[in-house]
Amino acid sequence: MTVMVKGWCPSAYRPMMSGDGLIVRVRPHAGRLDRAQVIGLCEAAAQYGNGIIDLTNRANLQIRGVAQEDHAALVEALSVFGLLDADPVREARRNIIVAPDWRAGDATARLAEKMAQRLGELPALPGKFGFAVDAGDGSILRDTPADIRIERGAGGGLIVRADGAAQGCPVAESEAIDAVVALAHWFAARGEERRMARLLRSVPLPQAWQSEPPASPRAKPRPGDDIGGPVLGAPFGQLPAEALADVTVESRAAALRVTPWRLFALEGVRALPAHPFIDAPDDPLLRVDACPGAPACSAATVETRRLARALAGRVDGDLHVSGCEKGCARPRAADVTLVGRDGGFDLVHGGKPGDAPTRRGLTPEALASGAELP
Ligand code: SF4
Repeated sequence: MTVMVKGWCPSAYRPMMSGDGLIVRVRPHAGRLDRAQVIGLCEAAAQYGNGIIDLTNRANLQIRGVAQEDHAALVEALSVFGLLDADPVREARRNIIVAPDWRAGDATARLAEKMAQRLGELPALPGKFGFAVDAGDGSILRDTPADIRIERGAGGGLIVRADGAAQGCPVAESEAIDAVVALAHWFAARGEERRMARLLRSVPLPQAWQSEPPASPRAKPRPGDDIGGPVLGAPFGQLPAEALADVTVESRAAALRVTPWRLFALEGVRALPAHPFIDAPDDPLLRVDACPGAPACSAATVETRRLARALAGRVDGDLHVSGCEKGCARPRAADVTLVGRDGGFDLVHGGKPGDAPTRRGLTPEALASGAELP
């Protein structure tokens, strides 16, 4: 059965309609797909979608361009590979992001597994409410959206921290999931707010939940690093299904690890075959954000990613090409932002797409030629 709600945070069972068809979201368990799952996902994206898989800022994977009449068959195909929970309610609740460099048997892996087992103890929560399991030496997911976090405290033990709170509650590993469930119930009992950090602006968090600051964050991986396999970048968060399947098979990767930073790793790989992904930390595409734009998004009047690719490396600093003022691809300011409007672009310096532009009505052709760029 296809349940479709426009504007809903998309999932596999409740896809969102976009300009190019349904968006079907897959949430990999612990951010990992084994080789067979990668191949299955890529085949499904090619057969039922437009052949491009999005890697999101919550380390999920989205198949785009799915016709409504193909949705049930796609769900079936994904289920065969163990990429979906059989229960749609459980699938919706499994909003857990895991530090992508976990190793088998470490604290992050143990806690992620326990968290997934205890989803049934959570109260009803808003669709975007999520959890971060980040129990390495220091937080690697500090900037990644999540409402309740398991991370290391300044003293080296585990803490459970409400997003938006400066400090967390120290816990033994055996108590950590109990604390997460209790904090989720505390949140759910306090009304209609949709995110923890927003709730804490108006409702004080009990002192018991705020007694230890988190440990210093640690550096995120970059293309060329190794986190149990080489790290590669997906330009604009896009993974062409055919190329992803090819590099997975040819490299004999044991698995794919996904991250919330438009990066992925091929587990167990020593030598990479030829591939179209970013493998150098100074690649200019890493400083460019661009949303799908037209025709994929019905809110856009401009194509975005071809222009962004053409301008990569020709702008001082970060570049954001946004199909409209909403700015989905980058919530924070960029050195240069181009905002689509009525088929042309407005130019914003040092701001976000909704900020006042310094120039208006620039044509894509003039921008691509470089004539109108600062
Ligand atoms: S920024 Fe606008 S055009 Fe781009 S994806 Fe979001 S809503 Fe669509």
